[in-house]
Amino acid sequence: MIIVLKHGYTDNQIENFVKSLKSNYKVTVNKIITPNSVVLNLTGNTEELNPDKISKYEIVESITQEPNNFKKVSRNYKNSNTIIDLKSKHKVGNNNLTLIAGPCSVESLEQICSIANDVKNFGANCLRGGAFKPRTSPYNFQGLKKEGIELLIQAKNLTGLPIVSEITDIRYLDLFENVDIIQVGARNMQNFELLKELGKLDKPILLKRGMSNTIEELLMSAEYIISEGNSKIILCERGIRTFEPYTRNTLDISSIPILKRLSHLPVIVDPSHASGIPWLIEPLSMAAISCGADGIIVEVHNHPNSALSDGYQSITPYTFKHIANKLLKLKTFLNSNKP
Ligand code: PEP
Ligand code: MN
Repeated sequence: MIIVLKHGYTDNQIENFVKSLKSNYKVTVNKIITPNSVVLNLTGNTEELNPDKISKYEIVESITQEPNNFKKVSRNYKNSNTIIDLKSKHKVGNNNLTLIAGPCSVESLEQICSIANDVKNFGANCLRGGAFKPRTSPYNFQGLKKEGIELLIQAKNLTGLPIVSEITDIRYLDLFENVDIIQVGARNMQNFELLKELGKLDKPILLKRGMSNTIEELLMSAEYIISEGNSKIILCERGIRTFEPYTRNTLDISSIPILKRLSHLPVIVDPSHASGIPWLIEPLSMAAISCGADGIIVEVHNHPNSALSDGYQSITPYTFKHIANKLLKLKTFLNSNKP
């Protein structure tokens, strides 16, 4: 952190200020005297320094805080919002509403094409579908793998919707050549070797927050990708584990404005995994967009009761239609009322 001091303070007053910084926080203070001002360079445990508090000291002219652990994803590094162009011409970020919809798992050609057609007609601009499923139990459906990706590509060719699918291991990367957005799931958010490899691609990455990871850890994971050269990253809040058992996870709604403040990357929300409850998808999605999210990724199934994974939390295409309409109206209202 860099603190520039105001003119007209005595050496004594400056020394007292430096002493109070050292005693209140575990930081090292390096004083630089320039012809125009006195500048303090603070290093060490600067994370604990609250710029709002420090700026209340009369002596302080300005503060610049350099994030230590994530740099290129931060707003200090790049102030303008990152906008991600998809081949379909849809842009993720800025004033656009991104609606990614589809089943938890790709199950058959008939299933994925039927859902793809419906969600496209009802307002989705991307199709999701898991082919490699990281299931908690090894006895649960693990996804159709290569065949699942091939079926998803057929649904893309049919509808023109860009496709999103999760990668669980870098060994499968070749299979993702025609996948438009590669998803890194919550369980792999800190698979740093995977993140580094994805950083070498020129392809959008949808990075989900780990269920027990902090906002800063999510940003550091994004930094692994961007530091290898790939800045096409979409952050995704998908709920975190708390003591509350009513919902599958707890949607951390405050993470949205915080991520937007700290980073220039687009942020979307997954209300399906955050709640695990279909009737919560609408209010959580509305809350997410109101808080500044750039879109949602939601699980939609044509026969939720017979889905091979996460059917209990999936909404039907018709419910998606209703929610998409409400979200579009909300986004238009928010865009027209921007300060
Ligand atoms: C998914 O999107 O299907 C998924 C497994 O999500 P998460 O990684 O957020 O649990
Ligand atoms: Mn799922």
